[in-house]
Amino acid sequence: VRQAYKKMPLIIGGLEASLRRMAHYDYWKDSLRRSVLLDSKADLLVYGMGEAAIRKIAAALDDGTAVSEIRDVPGTVYVCPAAEIPEKALFLPDHEKLKTGGAAFAESFRVQYENADPFTGRTMAESYGGRAVVQNPPAPPLTREEMDRVYALPFARGPHPSYSEKIPAMEEIQFSLVSNRGCFGSCAFCALAFHQGRIVTSRSKESLVDEAKILVKDSDFKGYIHDVGGPTANFRDPACTKQGTKGSCPGKRCLTPEPCPSLKSDHSEYIEILRELRKLEGIKKVFIRSGIRFDYMMEDKKNDFLSELCEHHVSGQLKVAPEHVSPDVLRVMGKPKRQVYDEFVRRYAEVNKKLGKKQYLVPYFISGHPGARLKDAITMAEYLRDTCFIPEQVQDFYPTPGTLATAMWFSGIDPMTGKKVHIPSGHEEKAMQRALLQYNRPENREIVRKALIKAGRQDLIGNGPKALIREDGRKAGGQHLSGRSPVRRPIGKGKKGRKGGR
Ligand code: SF4
Repeated sequence: VRQAYKKMPLIIGGLEASLRRMAHYDYWKDSLRRSVLLDSKADLLVYGMGEAAIRKIAAALDDGTAVSEIRDVPGTVYVCPAAEIPEKALFLPDHEKLKTGGAAFAESFRVQYENADPFTGRTMAESYGGRAVVQNPPAPPLTREEMDRVYALPFARGPHPSYSEKIPAMEEIQFSLVSNRGCFGSCAFCALAFHQGRIVTSRSKESLVDEAKILVKDSDFKGYIHDVGGPTANFRDPACTKQGTKGSCPGKRCLTPEPCPSLKSDHSEYIEILRELRKLEGIKKVFIRSGIRFDYMMEDKKNDFLSELCEHHVSGQLKVAPEHVSPDVLRVMGKPKRQVYDEFVRRYAEVNKKLGKKQYLVPYFISGHPGARLKDAITMAEYLRDTCFIPEQVQDFYPTPGTLATAMWFSGIDPMTGKKVHIPSGHEEKAMQRALLQYNRPENREIVRKALIKAGRQDLIGNGPKALIREDGRKAGGQHLSGRSPVRRPIGKGKKGRKGGR
């Protein structure tokens, strides 16, 4: 675009630009890359959701301001000569230092992470020789009224006309409602907070109901709303009163290792919205497919959301994301302790029993996350053995830009503590950790055996009831080797398993 329109103001944005706004690790190239603003030769980069920044930029251009002079819009990044870096800016380690990885990269990430809040974030500068990339503080999140106005705009509600082939995910997206933005979950492997921020904002009931009425009129609508959610379905408000007025605590997570005493968990409004949507003519079912943060749900003393969820919004199985069970890995990930998940499993089974429903839990797990050693992957495999659940798919961690986990991956340091963290980056170790999560698959047999020997856990090879690798031709986990489908016993549902998943 820059080659074709040399003098045209070129402004980039969207998720990719947002996460690559400063120097970042690129997994595909396995190297540090400069800010995408330099590589794209654009004039300005808009990060975050962008609506407020776009209006300010448009107004400035309209007033005749040159794009090179637009340097004060919150939620934007620009390039300037080193001599013009604002005095108030925090200096991040320069690009040459960052190339060495290690402590400089971890430090840069920490400073960026702690300045990603619209109330407390400061301007930051990253030097590249004689010039610098300067990031203004984030734009404040939209208010509820502003969000409602955005979602009332006449969107096309379809794929770009350049797509001629059917897009499989389209129906689900087309008939889903975005209810909120932002996330205070602070999972280390997620870039959402780096893009939308930690302060949750949400749309009003009226706005969501109005949009649902538009969906109902669509000739392709079959009566099913596929989702009413966002980054985390059951977040609708800032984590606490302070967060909404003064910003998030820079050095603390709201939910882990223990829920913050100031955290407010309340599902009343979400329940009310879901009830209102269910009542609309033309709607047969309203699903919730965005992730539910179960630890937040269990902090709600009214304890009324789970039964509402199970009774009306689950289609036979609920996907949840405990992500791991080893305490060391959960701590690095910023996920709740295993005991919290176990308690949720118990309550889920209890509620479904009361409702007379056979609904299952499908937990998601990540292998090879920073902080995960072979012993942690074995702990995970033993948990899967004991619950007779083998996931059909395993998410193998890979480092995407803008996450705390990626900063750990590249630097070998946890930026928030400054301590070294184990990185399972070698091909064999990653393959072992991944295979352990599907230890009973015939194709994983040899690598799992090798992993167990390497970890000194030969006690898990043999014919005993705890064996992960059996020597008698039977499949560990109770299924015979000839079976091709993995055992997927629903978590929280007694002893009987199901074959082949859903
Ligand atoms: S006080 Fe607690 S809940 Fe509020 S922002 Fe800080 S850590 Fe989160």
